[in-house]
Amino acid sequence: PKKIVIIGAGVVGSSLAYFLSKMGQSNITVIEQGPLFETGGSTSHAPGLVFQLNFSKLMTAFANQTVEIFQELNSPAFPTYHPVGSIELANTPERLEDLKRKAGVAKSWGVEAVILSPEECAEKNPLLDPTQILGGLYVATDGIAKPLRAVDKMAEFSKSCGVQFYGRTEVRDVKVIDNQVKAVETTAGRFEADILICCAGFWGPRIGEMVGVTIPLQPMAHQYVVTHDLQELANETDEIRLPMLRHQDSALYYRQLFNGIGIGSYQHRPLPVEVSEITKYGETKEMPSVKPFTQEDFEKPWQDAQALFPTLKQTGFKKGINGIFSFTPDGMPLLGESKVQGFWVAEAIWVTHSAGVAKSVAEWIVNGTPTLDLELCDINRFDTYAQSPHYYKSRSIENYATVYDIHHPYEPPASARDMRLTPYFGRQKELGGVFNEKSGWEQPQWFMINQTLLSSYEKILHHRTGWSAEHWSPIVEAEQLHTKEHTSLFDVTAEKKRLEISGADVIPFLQQLTTSNIDIPIGLVTKTLMLHEFGGIKDELTVIREAPAKFMVLCSGATEASWIEKQARNFIDIQIVDLSSGTCELQLIGPKSNFVVEAFDQVFAEPKQAKTLYIGTAKVLSYFTKLGDLETYSFTTTSDQGLALWDELMNAGDSYQIAPAGKRALENLRIEALSIKNGKDYWSEHSPFEIGLEEMIDLSKGDFIGKAALMSRKENGLVSSTFILDDPSMVVMGYEPVLAEDQVVGFVTSAAYSYELGRCVALALVKPEVVNMPVQIEYFGQRYDAVKDTSILKAEGVTR
Ligand code: FAD
Repeated sequence: PKKIVIIGAGVVGSSLAYFLSKMGQSNITVIEQGPLFETGGSTSHAPGLVFQLNFSKLMTAFANQTVEIFQELNSPAFPTYHPVGSIELANTPERLEDLKRKAGVAKSWGVEAVILSPEECAEKNPLLDPTQILGGLYVATDGIAKPLRAVDKMAEFSKSCGVQFYGRTEVRDVKVIDNQVKAVETTAGRFEADILICCAGFWGPRIGEMVGVTIPLQPMAHQYVVTHDLQELANETDEIRLPMLRHQDSALYYRQLFNGIGIGSYQHRPLPVEVSEITKYGETKEMPSVKPFTQEDFEKPWQDAQALFPTLKQTGFKKGINGIFSFTPDGMPLLGESKVQGFWVAEAIWVTHSAGVAKSVAEWIVNGTPTLDLELCDINRFDTYAQSPHYYKSRSIENYATVYDIHHPYEPPASARDMRLTPYFGRQKELGGVFNEKSGWEQPQWFMINQTLLSSYEKILHHRTGWSAEHWSPIVEAEQLHTKEHTSLFDVTAEKKRLEISGADVIPFLQQLTTSNIDIPIGLVTKTLMLHEFGGIKDELTVIREAPAKFMVLCSGATEASWIEKQARNFIDIQIVDLSSGTCELQLIGPKSNFVVEAFDQVFAEPKQAKTLYIGTAKVLSYFTKLGDLETYSFTTTSDQGLALWDELMNAGDSYQIAPAGKRALENLRIEALSIKNGKDYWSEHSPFEIGLEEMIDLSKGDFIGKAALMSRKENGLVSSTFILDDPSMVVMGYEPVLAEDQVVGFVTSAAYSYELGRCVALALVKPEVVNMPVQIEYFGQRYDAVKDTSILKAEGVTR
């Protein structure tokens, strides 16, 4: 059996040892620098609040599973989970609206959550002054976890399966030979390891350095205080009975702790901690995960706490800490096998998600693929720029500062901007580009210059209101309409990673990787899928054959690219070169885009064709596809020629009313064309058959990854569908619940206004039995009727 070494016996390391043992792995060693099991890490003093609901489906699933697992570990004498419920409070109308949105997401993810009036909130937690709030969101199954007890119980089981725990043993170095982990050097000697899992909490970056892998997390200090006993709680014998509270408008959270209250604060200035500042166990009176309490940072939070709980005016707090935990640039954990074989990471994980994450990572290690899609947490999602301390520190600090803010899905980040600029970024700025960031690139969302288009479309242009109108402009709609009528130039550099794959084994490799025949003639482009071993979709790929043994492969991002690289390990003569940083890509979309065929010699007029040619001085790889029925010409060139290419295309298109257009219009056009997208409308939990991509599967070709599983896989998941809202004034945004006969049957994945239909079109994942039924979509607590069949509207003659 493989030798598995886990670094860290906090809640994450211990849960992982537990699940690996449960899955039959033997030969597991856990090495912990602190004493077992109150190790001095973050777990040792986590107050254990578990708020399960998250706008991320995956994070909600991790939390649901953690609650289930902690409840299974419960015993009457030593409860590991107290399901006392939680209330998120609102004291602004905006927050109350946001809680309604969250209640909708709860339905989508299958969590029971209800909006309460201020009085109902105070009934559940009588310490609360109801005049201070406008309402709350109540989740009955939330509660307080007791991570140290859970760790004890899990370790007991693991030990009975033969897991060895070494306390007070520090990992000092990791031996890597030929890019494969071999052993760890510790204060108690050397331990051989085929698989090394870093569960070292905020010490993770240090272990990463030993292996040569960046672990992009930022340790942050976070204030937590416990009040003196309160009269109202004088007779309490339970550790906790009252529901816990989250008051995001003042960035504070609260839990009962016997006769007092524990208060956590995100209100203070961000307090980043350098890894070099972290003390060793026993070096100071406090645990290594605790910094001295900075009184001044708690003055305003204490006033806010007294306003919400008037009883606090009679008392003070007896203890406060600045406890350390990990923050990441995108708020998601860091999981999976790194580029160094055998070096796995399970980092930046809250108690809330701990056992759920550990279960998934154990599946990943043992089965090769986890049940849940973990791509959003994959350690390989960080491109070179994102491994820079500049990026991950500043973004993590921003995340800490804004963790309780109301987040709009299109809100651009404030820190670490202008990291990756396309060669025509200056032109885009001159044209009034409004930018957001994607994969580090500055990406125009729309162009202010297109204000001039508004008057042409005044009568038909759909105006949004409220939440959907934030971080939006009517110009987006004008660009969408203009593209459908004329032609627009889109910058799609950030949309895909561009990999050049070549070598003598390229055909067998790509045939193994993809679901359709990629042995296509030179000069053709095809779309295909890559699946994992269990038949779920890893990505949709665009594959262009440039030469007998040379292909350009476009995939979604760094995670997918690293997966492709991993699959190539089994082939001898394969070279994969990531051209993304040194190249850029423009697309001309719209019925008049074929002006380029006349303007530039050799540009193809037939779809699915690809060619290398010159446009001015720019040597471009050009290919022709369709987005719905819109002609789409793509041009990839090297960065030095990008500006020249932009100018050539804009100049040549001048007499065809070419306009630059942004990502938001492109997204609307995609949705209007009912084109589903990996990571947005489906992910690796879905098979091609569930989401209607079976035309990309060629079962008659030889073996490919996932083929066997695909043939025996039982489809019982949600399926892809499209609904059209009745109310022509409405648009939804995504993640809203879909209901049929008052039951939640799925959720919206993407939505946009369709000018063909004169209505909002919503792409959704729903139970198969409702695909053709009339449904309702719930948006901010209101239900809106929607129908499946787009042909109904077309038959009614509704075109705009
Ligand atoms: P840790 O518990 O830190 O474990 C990592 C272990 O690795 C440590 O024991 C460490 O000693 C060991 N280690 C490191 N380096 C080495 C080495 N070289 N050799 C050997 N061993 C090593 N989460 C919630 O869900 N809800 C909450 O209410 C909550 N409140 C919090 C309040 C505070 C004040 C703080 C600080 C955190 C809070 N958290 C909360 C977060 C939560 O505590 C952590 O995210 C979680 O405990 C992390 O668990 P872990 O196992 O990854 O890390």
